[in-house]
This record gives sequence, structure tokens and C-alpha cells, in this order.
Amino acid sequence: MSRITDLYVKNQRRSRPNIDTSHRCIFKCPQCIRQKTTSQTQIRRSFDLEPEQFKKILDYYDYGITFCGQISDPIYHKDFLSLLKICDGKKKAVRIATVGSGKPDKWWDEAYSYGVGENAWYFGVDGIDKKSELYRIGSNFDDVWKRMKQGRDLGHCIVWQYIVFGYNEHELERAIEIAKEEDFALLVVNTNRGFRTDNPLLRDNVDFKLGAPDAKHREARVKKEYWAHRTKQLESWHNIPRRRWLEENPPPPPEQTVLQQQENRAPWKVMSDEDFDFGLRIAPDGKTDQGVEKISWQQPINENPLKGSLKDE
Ligand code: SF4
Repeated sequence: MSRITDLYVKNQRRSRPNIDTSHRCIFKCPQCIRQKTTSQTQIRRSFDLEPEQFKKILDYYDYGITFCGQISDPIYHKDFLSLLKICDGKKKAVRIATVGSGKPDKWWDEAYSYGVGENAWYFGVDGIDKKSELYRIGSNFDDVWKRMKQGRDLGHCIVWQYIVFGYNEHELERAIEIAKEEDFALLVVNTNRGFRTDNPLLRDNVDFKLGAPDAKHREARVKKEYWAHRTKQLESWHNIPRRRWLEENPPPPPEQTVLQQQENRAPWKVMSDEDFDFGLRIAPDGKTDQGVEKISWQQPINENPLKGSLKDE
């Protein structure tokens, strides 16, 4: 059991959790959980994540985090720039999923000054033109498009996230062409969310006039996402965890034995009673802290060189 726990603790640090930094958003996307009566209590009791608390989270997770709001758009956190600043230069993969509308030039200038090569900005633009505002109610397509280009020109990984609806399904092919022309990665989403305008859980003030797309663009259970176009920046961003792991675990010289390679990555190894009949701590020079000398590094761990000698005495 302890080994399973150890593995969990080790691997948990390698996950990249999603963080909802606040309860703030100025948009009214009709299928968002914010537009449900059931989420209102959660929104009321939520608060802004403090930078000091966020720093602890980021320190723990080795490979990065995602800012993708469930009841918020991350850029509307009261001090999101401070959170980006904390991430800057940490060589961790940071994903920011936003509608991307409504912030001034000054805000974007600072936001894009952080995390070049580390941050991937996912913009929710569900269409090739102003029709995207039919779902992203309250956004401004021209403003968002301008921010996407600005980020791209500064070397950021820009992802165009396109949910397929009845009003934009016929423009998907054109969207792929535009993504290639503009050098944006294009992530297409087949939604699993409902299109019932009479859903009793919808808040009264929600403007729900969306038409459902063809069945081939809808999912009954889990939503489906696929890359319709990838960019170099996206490939590089996806490789951040791998690069980081290789930096921290450089391959040993090839002439070493497999066992030596393992030991060089963990110079001190505590062998359990199961591996060895005695719990011996073995140093890289082949000596143990119990005075037993010359244990060969070539010896497979589960073949105890001391068996039949020390144990029988
Ligand atoms: S921007 Fe995000 S949080 Fe805000 S309403 Fe739309 S989906 Fe919900």
C-alpha cells in the first residue's frame, strides 16, 4: 500500500490541474453553468484566489496548470496579471482559456509580456466572424481577433477554440483555412450540452436561441475535441513537460550497466526487507552503512548477494 501511495504522491505532482480563479465573468454564454439556477449559490460563496495561495499551488505542480474557468473567465480575476507574473519563467506549461474580450491595450501588453513559450492562450471564438457573439454573448469578435493576432505576433501559442453550433457548422472548412492563414491552432469542439430552450434549470434572463448542429457534430456523453490545425508553437508548448523531465533526468552515459544507470539517478537507495533480507543503505561506492563491503552494482536487486552468508550466521 505504501508503494501505491508513494507512486500517487510522485505522479500527482505531474498532473496539471484546472484552476477556477474566481467567480467573475462579464459574458453570458447560454450553455455555461453560470446560466443555471443551480450554480448561483456556488457563485455567491466563491472568492478570488490570492496570489500567495496560488504560488503554493504552482510550486507543487511540476509541469504546469490550466486556467479554465467553470464559473469564471480567468482574465476577469481581479489581479490575473499577478498570477501570470508568478508563472513567468518557471518552465511550466500554462493554459489560459478565455473569451478574450473587453480588456484594454495596457492589460494585454502586460499579459503578453509574461510566459512567452510557456503560455498557451485558448480563445473561445465559435465562428469565423461576428456570429461568434451569438454564443459568446457580450463579447466583441473584432476585439478578440485583434488580441489573438497580437499574441501570435509576440510569439505566443494561440489556440482558436471553436464549438460547433447550428449557426457555424457550415463554416468549419473555411475556419480551417483561416487558421492556417493566420497561424492559429484550431481546436474544434463537438458539444455534449443540451439545446432545450425550455430547460427548467435555465435562469430567466438567459438569451437562449442557439440551434443545434447536425448530429455528427454532437456528442451524447462526453464532449469531443480534436485538432483541425496545429502550429509549431502548439507542438513546442505540448513538449514543455517532456523537456522539463529530461532536464531534470538527463540520460546517463551509455557505457554504464542498466543497474548503474538506475543508481546514478538515485545515488542513495534504501532497499526494503523485501528486496534484501536486511535493510541496507548502499552508497555509490559499493559500501553500506552497516559495514558490508563490495556489493556489486551489477547484482540484480532481487538477487541478494548476502543470502546464505550473513543471514545464516
Ligand atoms: S466566458 Fe466562460 S465563464 Fe463566462 S459565461 Fe462564457 S463559458 Fe461561462
